[in-house]
Amino acid sequence: MRFIFLGPPGAGKGTQAKKLASDCQIPQISTGDILRAAVSNKTEMGLKAKFFMDKGKLVPDEVILGIIKDCLDEERCKDGYILDGFPRTINQAIELSSLLKEINSKIDAIFNFKVKDEIIINRLCGRRVCKDCGALYHVEYLKTAKENICDHCQGELYQRKDDTEEIVKKRLLVYHDLTSPLIEYYKKLSLLKEIEGEGDVREIYKEIKAFLEKN
Ligand code: AMP
Repeated sequence: MRFIFLGPPGAGKGTQAKKLASDCQIPQISTGDILRAAVSNKTEMGLKAKFFMDKGKLVPDEVILGIIKDCLDEERCKDGYILDGFPRTINQAIELSSLLKEINSKIDAIFNFKVKDEIIINRLCGRRVCKDCGALYHVEYLKTAKENICDHCQGELYQRKDDTEEIVKKRLLVYHDLTSPLIEYYKKLSLLKEIEGEGDVREIYKEIKAFLEKN
């Protein structure tokens, strides 16, 4: 069970990937999460990546490909994984495909989450994250019981630096320019399942599960 979750930032890929990963007992490999951890630990890679992330730009392919190679080599990935936020460029997709060939492996399904830009801007600018457990909230649609305090672990909430309107708009430009061509690329491989990402979170998850049961 090896999946790719494609889509613009804020399309709900991460939320669905977490649910499926926990159901299937496979790891969710989020390149964004890995980079944010490196930034907060101030590693050499984190310091390099921060420069690009803060501007809403993509981190150079060689950094990302290094992360992915290391992850796929790990024992926890041997029975499958969900790639969430990777690949994001045609070059990354080509490199992934040759990496998988080398280890005699393949992707089983690719889900493309579709959400309109104006909805994404609203979702991301209002998004808040728990600094301790990573739980996601929204200032309008998913409020905490106590202002700015996580309902699960009492951690403090923060707004990601790249969730401001100016940077979200830049991230969307980058998505349309560099990542959306992957939709055509993967359509040709007949592995792509389109998901309407604007609906109810539970309904979207049911659709993903139903697709996997049939295929
Ligand atoms: P995300 O949390 O997936 O929205 O990613 C946050 C930021 O991390 C992106 O805006 C990029 O700067 C960087 N990033 C994450 N995944 C990739 C990737 N596959 N290629 C290049 N940059 C990435």
